[in-house]
Amino acid sequence: MKKQGLAILGSTGSIGVQTLDIVRENPDLFEVVTLTANRNWELLARQAMEFDADSVVIADERLYPQLKEALSDTDIKVYAGEKAISDITANSNVDTVVNALVGYAGMMPTVRAIENGKKVALANKESLVVGGDIIMKMALERRVPILPVDSEHSAIFQCLIGEQSPLRRLIITCSGGAFRDLPREALKDMTAEQALKHPQWTMGAKITIDSATLVNKGFEVIEAHWLFGVDADRISVIIHPQSIVHSLVEFEDGALKAQLGTPDMHMPISFALMFPHRASRPSERFSFADHPTLTFREVDRVKYPALDIAYDCLRRGGTAACTMNGANEVAVGAFLNHKCGYTDIVRTIEHTLGKATFIASPTLDDYALCNAEARNTARNFLGI
Ligand code: NDP
Repeated sequence: MKKQGLAILGSTGSIGVQTLDIVRENPDLFEVVTLTANRNWELLARQAMEFDADSVVIADERLYPQLKEALSDTDIKVYAGEKAISDITANSNVDTVVNALVGYAGMMPTVRAIENGKKVALANKESLVVGGDIIMKMALERRVPILPVDSEHSAIFQCLIGEQSPLRRLIITCSGGAFRDLPREALKDMTAEQALKHPQWTMGAKITIDSATLVNKGFEVIEAHWLFGVDADRISVIIHPQSIVHSLVEFEDGALKAQLGTPDMHMPISFALMFPHRASRPSERFSFADHPTLTFREVDRVKYPALDIAYDCLRRGGTAACTMNGANEVAVGAFLNHKCGYTDIVRTIEHTLGKATFIASPTLDDYALCNAEARNTARNFLGI
């Protein structure tokens, strides 16, 4: 059987490294064609040699010489620059593009992967938050599958397999992030280091901060809307601190279907790569004794205003969510660099949305302009 050729965009990040674990476990199924990183050229070079990649791309062009030198004894092709990441998806040996990039930088590679007719295993939720309208239409027209890697969306996808009747609503579970047990008043003093201690998942820095503000959950609502064609009013979010129920679907007869498992991204990653088959992971045995209690509670919408802001952006459509995303990326970067406080993240988003140009039916160029405008406004607001 021909191996599935993979382009893993963002191979040096949390999702990228776990994707390579799946490849390592299944050498007969996958072949690594290309790997990319932003700056971590040392790890990228090691990965490329271990998996005998055809090519690598480093987004930061200044690091090209180091990467080229590190791979000089091999025949691995070395490219640099953000555009090269999108271009590499055209490689004829690539069957599947795993988009594990973080932020707006992931959107054009998703677009190009679809244009090039490649199956997309999508972790980069920002692609759909910003350009879900265009991306889903394009994928439908070109009959390109987009398979969710996000655990909540993978759970919903798994619950929907085989169902023919309409659903009543999607219920997205939410761990509550690092500050879920703190009172509202304590949030303003929280530091980046505290926000980075996620109770359940080990992830990249940006998504961990987004989990603490619930921006991530708001983005997941938008992502679910585009992936499953369900309106905002029929998507609920519920806090589930144990992160065992990964999400649920409620049907019109009142039946609820859920997908459960230990919090481990290897499962949704492998499902996206192997669908309609499943990976054989003998080590995976769920222990009910270790998880005797599963609890659920409503989200405190005052403590977490970002969730309703995201719902509002989804209902407004157009460039609203693109603006929210751009402002959030700048504010999260500032928070991680100790240039602003935790509560400034949502303040920046609100301020930027209030100032932004709104385009109801944007093109890809409009998104680029809107993203740049949001970043500028956010930077000015934060004085950075
Ligand atoms: P990480 O920050 O761990 O990794 C991001 C990857 O993208 C790295 O390889 C990084 O390279 C690269 N990268 C960062 N910025 C750029 C850029 N401007 N241009 C090109 N490459 C870039 O992120 P995660 O793996 O945590 O998240 C990736 C995506 O998956 C996000 O959209 C996130 O929301 C989503 N996701 C993540 C989950 C998780 O468990 N981590 C769960 C569900 C969804 P370098 O290493 O050189 O910086």
